[in-house]
Amino acid sequence: MTHNLFDTLAHRMQDRGDAEFIITREGRGYTYAQALAATTRLAGALTALGVAPGDRVAAQVDKSPETVLLYLACLRIGGVYLPLNTGYTGEEIRYFLGDAEPALFVCRPQDLDTARRIAAECGCPAVESLGTGGDGSLMARVETATPRDDIVPRGERDLAAILYTSGTTGRSKGAMLTHDNLRSNAEALVESWHFSEADRLIHALPIFHTHGLFVACNVVMMAGASMLFLPRFDADVIFEELPRATAMMGVPTFYTRLLQDARLTRELTANMRLFVSGSAPLTAETHQAFEQRTGHAILERYGMTETNMNLSNPYHGRRIAGTVGRPLPGVEIRITDLETGEPVADGEIGMLQVRGPNVFIGYWRMPEKTREELLEDGFFITGDLARVEENGYVQIVGRDKDLVISGGYNVYPKEIEQVIDELDEVDESAVIGVPHPDFGEGVTAVVVPRLGAQIDETRVIASLAGRLAKYKQPKRVFFVDELPRNTMGKVQKNQLRQQFRDTYA
Ligand code: ATP
Ligand code: MG
Repeated sequence: MTHNLFDTLAHRMQDRGDAEFIITREGRGYTYAQALAATTRLAGALTALGVAPGDRVAAQVDKSPETVLLYLACLRIGGVYLPLNTGYTGEEIRYFLGDAEPALFVCRPQDLDTARRIAAECGCPAVESLGTGGDGSLMARVETATPRDDIVPRGERDLAAILYTSGTTGRSKGAMLTHDNLRSNAEALVESWHFSEADRLIHALPIFHTHGLFVACNVVMMAGASMLFLPRFDADVIFEELPRATAMMGVPTFYTRLLQDARLTRELTANMRLFVSGSAPLTAETHQAFEQRTGHAILERYGMTETNMNLSNPYHGRRIAGTVGRPLPGVEIRITDLETGEPVADGEIGMLQVRGPNVFIGYWRMPEKTREELLEDGFFITGDLARVEENGYVQIVGRDKDLVISGGYNVYPKEIEQVIDELDEVDESAVIGVPHPDFGEGVTAVVVPRLGAQIDETRVIASLAGRLAKYKQPKRVFFVDELPRNTMGKVQKNQLRQQFRDTYA
């Protein structure tokens, strides 16, 4: 039996024939039959460019239907797709090309000259461009390529993709994902979230992350649904499209931005059946406000580059704000003590570990890191702290690396952030630990006040006095206009720790 994910997808695509698969606002798109045919031509072009099974194809391209076809063609010929963040600079690209050694680098048309130079330095033999209008040198090659309609057989441990982690806690690591990893997760999500041919997904996420590429695209294809492919999140566009869609996947900032607008109503979202949130924590406040305004309880799930999705609130049944639900079918979890690695008692906070067919096979060219985090019994150490509630729902408490240890006590930033965020004058906050001569780390709060609100450090500290143990109370409070976030809405606490590192020096 072949493990190539494209075998499964191609069957679905064949079945769906003339049904719409992917379309842009400008009406540029592909039916399933057209997309399947296009992958044969692209596969021919990739082969002519020298891409062989097991070779990496790196792509730093803006979102377009053709980027999805490139991913599919790559799977078809047994290549390993390696998408890169469009925000990476030349310097960063040099690192990734050097690390991944792709056989082909696909770049944006305007970057072609720089990309050629960097690729030459890194020994990458081929560079082609792909533009958002289906233009670029790669598509020109497709015109003349001899189509390939075979699907290269793949084995159990063959890679479908290498995806670099977001780099929130350090240098990005390449997660090696097999065909089986991706297939099993897409199947679990289609089933859990009830995706079907009748669905039309609003796709406004970037496609160089698990969320936009695998969760969104693989699920849509596996279900034979269709998707509206938007270049980015734009609230005006979303409001126009919601009445014609059935589902949306977003990061929490999508939802907070929609909530800021009076156009978000029950009527406007009447055709929608599902709003999914992930990649960063959704606050209970946003969850509740969204439900009040639209009648929809946002379904929050938890996943990561190394594992795709692990936990999800239920489709039927209660979606509990502030939790990420229970393990998906086939996924096992355990919560372990940070020091001993032994399972903790029920309800206690510890390290979240996961095991299942979704878990990657290691970090690209980082055998030591792989050994540290991927245990012999198959469990992967996620780096996230969590607790299982009585009903089996999991609450993510924050990252292990964001845990503050002050005077020997563990301080979980989220607990303090929640209390600060309850203040009327506060929009949001981030609590960090920075070096402190007496306490090791000093609990420090960075607060974004609500527009026009009057608030100062004394008021924040006073308001926490009766509510949190002394050791948890921030020693200093700073005010900023906004928290530093990446494209997935993740707060960059590393940056904040850097910015405030001399506070107690
Ligand atoms: P790096 O591993 O390079 O430091 P990263 O962990 O941010 O970066 P990703 O794999 O993109 O890279 O993100 C996965 C992380 O995102 C998870 O480990 C978790 O911390 C966070 N996350 C994802 N979904 C949720 C969620 N629903 N609630 C809270 N955190 C979430
Ligand atoms: Mg990570």
